[in-house]
Amino acid sequence: MPLLIDGKATAAQIKSEIAQEVATLVAEGRKRPHLAAVLVGNDGGSETYVKNKVLACEACGFESTLIRFEDTVSETELLAKIDELNRDENIDGFIVQLPLPRHIDTDKVIEAIDHRKDVDGFHPINVGRLAIGLPCFISATPLGILTLLRRYGIETAGKHCVVVGRSNIVGKPMVQLMLQKEHGNATVTCIHSYTQDVAAECRKADILIAAIGRPGYITADMVKPGATVIDVGTTRVPDNSRPSGFRLSGDVDFNTVAPIAGAITPVPGGVGPMTICMLMLNTLAAGKKTYYR
Ligand code: NAP
Repeated sequence: MPLLIDGKATAAQIKSEIAQEVATLVAEGRKRPHLAAVLVGNDGGSETYVKNKVLACEACGFESTLIRFEDTVSETELLAKIDELNRDENIDGFIVQLPLPRHIDTDKVIEAIDHRKDVDGFHPINVGRLAIGLPCFISATPLGILTLLRRYGIETAGKHCVVVGRSNIVGKPMVQLMLQKEHGNATVTCIHSYTQDVAAECRKADILIAAIGRPGYITADMVKPGATVIDVGTTRVPDNSRPSGFRLSGDVDFNTVAPIAGAITPVPGGVGPMTICMLMLNTLAAGKKTYYR
């Protein structure tokens, strides 16, 4: 059987390391890092993500503030709150939980965030700095994946990494991170919905990262034996045996892929817990002014 990459345990370990560092900061008379989260509307998934982010802040010893708006909030009102958070010296970093209602221009909202407080790493300045290898806030999911590979001793330098998906928050920053000499240092292929012969491209991967949102799409015939398989997909599929009425399904057909993979992440308990954990790491860096003064 393959090495099972345990994101839940790794995230718990990293959060306890962050908490220790915060305790040291406070003992030195410095302030606790403070994360604010802006939540618009009542989407079940977003509520859960934000609740888990607030809980993670508590586990790390951070201060946290949750700011809620009805889904009828105007773009102007939301931008005014962002301006206020940008100026608030007590807030080290903040996030605006996505997706936003259709009447709000998401790009405009992201660009309005001061990049020095953009702990999600979505602002064009942070995206651009990542692309040219400068220190910056890096999108949490790709950073979590690279951290998992590092902590499990999986070599990336000189390996062939195939990223399936090219979204701005997962696929593209993952490609950048794996490509950078100072990070993954891998040879990288990016697959999208216009790619010809997806299976043949995937089979070239030493490290295969699936981020498409299609349950069970990656099957055993698409995986090179011994490859490391990272499953980012988290799609809610109906499941009447669960009290919630759904379960989370990954993009990888775990039961057929696991027997031939060298290492694999489960869903849930793989990439998901690492994403929130990396948001905490970015918040710590914001509090310490690691990247920007
Ligand atoms: P997204 O914005 O919907 O992007 C999906 C990408 O997959 C697109 O680039 C699309 O190609 C590509 N794609 C779709 N079907 C394909 C196919 N059959 N063959 C090749 N490429 C295909 O999704 P996302 O935001 O990146 O999220 C992807 C998945 O990861 C979702 O399940 C999401 O819930 C999950 N996710 C998990 C975490 C976590 O912490 N675990 C964090 C973020 C996202 P085109 O560009 O050509 O349309």
